[in-house]
Amino acid sequence: MISQILVFNSGSSSFKFSLYQSDQSEPILAGLAEQLGSQQACISFEYKQNKQKFKTPNSNHEAAINFVLDQFKTLNIDTSLIKAIGHRVVHGGEFYNDSVIVNDEVLNNLESCSDLAPLHNPANIQGIKIMQNLFKDIPQIAVFDTAFHQTLPKHAYLYAVDYNWYKDYAVRRYGFHGTSHKYVAQQAKTILKLDDKHQLITIHLGNGCSACAIKDGKSVDTTMGMTPLEGLVMGTRCGDIDPSILQFIANKTNLSLDEITTKLNKQSGLLGLSGLSNDMRTLIAASATNPQAKIAIDVFCFKLAKQIMALATSLSKIDVLVFTGGIGENSAFIREEVLEHLVLLGYKVETEFNNHQKLYNGQITKANTPLAMVIKTDEELMIKNDTTRLIFSN
Ligand code: AMP
Repeated sequence: MISQILVFNSGSSSFKFSLYQSDQSEPILAGLAEQLGSQQACISFEYKQNKQKFKTPNSNHEAAINFVLDQFKTLNIDTSLIKAIGHRVVHGGEFYNDSVIVNDEVLNNLESCSDLAPLHNPANIQGIKIMQNLFKDIPQIAVFDTAFHQTLPKHAYLYAVDYNWYKDYAVRRYGFHGTSHKYVAQQAKTILKLDDKHQLITIHLGNGCSACAIKDGKSVDTTMGMTPLEGLVMGTRCGDIDPSILQFIANKTNLSLDEITTKLNKQSGLLGLSGLSNDMRTLIAASATNPQAKIAIDVFCFKLAKQIMALATSLSKIDVLVFTGGIGENSAFIREEVLEHLVLLGYKVETEFNNHQKLYNGQITKANTPLAMVIKTDEELMIKNDTTRLIFSN
């Protein structure tokens, strides 16, 4: 019998959804609700290559989900075939090293992680609760950004601060983008026919950016920390900085700690450095004439290469370096800039491969030199797969 899985990714003012047949890797339908709670609220759908957009002014999450379900009916999609709903949840703290079927205890645990991810977990929990209400007898599955990194050894996840901060307040590195890192690592293993002892570094470069060292299929180090602010330069996030800067800027500007933290999250990274945009395409286009755009790209690439070298500390070999995410998948220029900093590791870009990676199975480096490649990420598919695995194994 056909069964379907709904994948749901709920943010504070938006949500993404995809409907899959449980044994397929392409969604039947996918869509996005944006600017919820505002006059501009709207919902877009893609179904059988047709795109449609609806204005739903002032709709909140619940109203928008009901609108989506009504559209399912209009499209003759039988919602009784939906057997489970898979939710992206950003922070699972130290509770979860795998996806889990949601029950009251899980919801309590997620709520207790909310102060570690105040921008994300409350919205994720809200999404689960709305779906529990609408689909009363259907299992809800939580798939965590942090779960894949729960294998980090203690020396990689502890900060060198008062140990009581870890014991009393769970201050430690958790890592994020785990679903993406795990997915592209599994893809690399399959494509390259690697054995179980493979080791690799995966580099997710989107608006958020992180990299991960993976040994024997397990995350052993990653660049994001207690929150997604640590690590690489990102679209609007600063990545690693000297923590003393917070006090220094507070003294100089009278900004509060909250305001500075917001600046580090929303007005730093590529946007802060360039003063122009958080969007890499815009910066690359401007960089020939705009020195600030160029320096933002230079810092982005240099710091990324430096972090790749640091991640290599956890490995004894690198079978492959994998680029993914909007920038990693689409910008041959950024990939080349980064690999040029990594001559010490032996990387040599083959321009033809790099410019047309899809024709070369993703490979971008010269034959008989250390391998770097591009693999398209698919976090929704990973959530669907985990959801299917959990409901059919129970
Ligand atoms: P994501 O968050 O994965 O959707 O990635 C968004 C980022 O990918 C933005 O900074 C985009 O500018 C960037 N991006 C998408 N396509 C390209 C491209 N062809 N060249 C450079 N950056 C790109």
